[in-house]
Amino acid sequence: MTEENGSTRSEPEPIVVPFIPGDGVGPEIMAATRRILDHSLEKATVGAVEIRWHEVLAGEKAYKTTGSWLPDDTLREISEKGLAIKGPLTTPVGGGIRSLNVQLRQSLDLYASVRPVRYFPGVPSPVKSPERLDVVIFRENTEDVYKGIEWKRGSDEALGMMEYLRSELGVDLSADCGIGLKPISETATKRIARAALKFAVRKGKPVVTIVHKGNIMKYTEGAFKEWAYELARDEFSEHVMFEDSASKEEASSSGKILVNDRIADNMFQQVLTRPDEYSVLVTPNLNGDYLADACAAQVGGLGVAPGANIGDRVAVFEPVHGTAPKYAGRNTANPTALILSGAMMLEHLGLITASRMVEDAVARTLSHGVMTEDLARRSGRQDSVSTSGFADTVINNLA
Ligand code: NAP
Repeated sequence: MTEENGSTRSEPEPIVVPFIPGDGVGPEIMAATRRILDHSLEKATVGAVEIRWHEVLAGEKAYKTTGSWLPDDTLREISEKGLAIKGPLTTPVGGGIRSLNVQLRQSLDLYASVRPVRYFPGVPSPVKSPERLDVVIFRENTEDVYKGIEWKRGSDEALGMMEYLRSELGVDLSADCGIGLKPISETATKRIARAALKFAVRKGKPVVTIVHKGNIMKYTEGAFKEWAYELARDEFSEHVMFEDSASKEEASSSGKILVNDRIADNMFQQVLTRPDEYSVLVTPNLNGDYLADACAAQVGGLGVAPGANIGDRVAVFEPVHGTAPKYAGRNTANPTALILSGAMMLEHLGLITASRMVEDAVARTLSHGVMTEDLARRSGRQDSVSTSGFADTVINNLA
């Protein structure tokens, strides 16, 4: 962590940050983001702290240069520095190559997908009061469907598994089934719940909600709920109260966090009907995947949705959206999601003033109606700014 006591320092202290520009629109939004982060640091620390950017390769550029989509050097460098910021990566089609993003998260054990979702005035939204939603989603990033245990219909493995299920457990499956397994462990559940609760304590968040489908899948989703509650009781007893014995108001007046749980389908309704009753959501992988995009849609969509994948030693910051290939090279893509991911990175580095400065400048820019083509189109406006033009305005709005 770096202290933001810039005025006492004479020599700049460079922080080496590995960055992956990414594919598609990645290089354009990364260039915009780096410029903004550099300016914010210059302003917030009076030049005492600066980032030394170090490009590391992944995706199409890595493949063309090294023959590998995700070179070992890249993983080593990110692991050594403990962080990175990345643009979106194309998932190579065919050849049995798994998503580079999933590989990156698994190789570096980035077990917490962290997605803050809040509204910036000026952004077009499909709901009436988007400002009522302000949540941070902690989604488990290593198990559940991300474990990737699947067997194709008719394969030896699927048929063998069916035979085992039939002969040993008396479970009959139709012969034309593909089969997938959904493992959820106590260890992985407790570490994501711990990360969510620690965050809630640090940020003074009033509610942590465990989102699960435990009414149907008792030993995976149901166990996720039980283990998360157990963790809250065992490790956070001085900070939490539970919904079965306290209301949100009672917890808040005692200076405690209310811990509750919601079944996943109800949670989708709640974020629309009672968005302001929630603040931190902790979920297994698949629920979180759906929920994070649905929440992002409420506040303006993927173009403005930042994210981070965080482990105990390493954190990688990235936008939620993909490579948006049809906009690549046109200087029209929306860089907001990556800029806000960059603000999360500054906060992670302890550079709180610079981080707030970036978020405030983005908020100011959007509230003045300065927006890229994607948002302008949805607002029914003809005027829009380019990717680099948006970055210029954000830089002018840093204060
Ligand atoms: P996508 O790249 O997110 O794009 C889907 C649509 O979202 C775009 O066509 C565009 O909508 C809009 N959009 C996304 N980002 C935007 C931005 N910055 N500015 C303006 N509009 C933006 O999703 P995809 O088409 O499903 O995936 C494309 C590739 O990205 C795939 O190879 C996928 O595997 C990869 N991907 C990577 C990541 C990652 O690296 N973390 C995440 C997701 C997907 P309109 O067409 O309506 O204008």
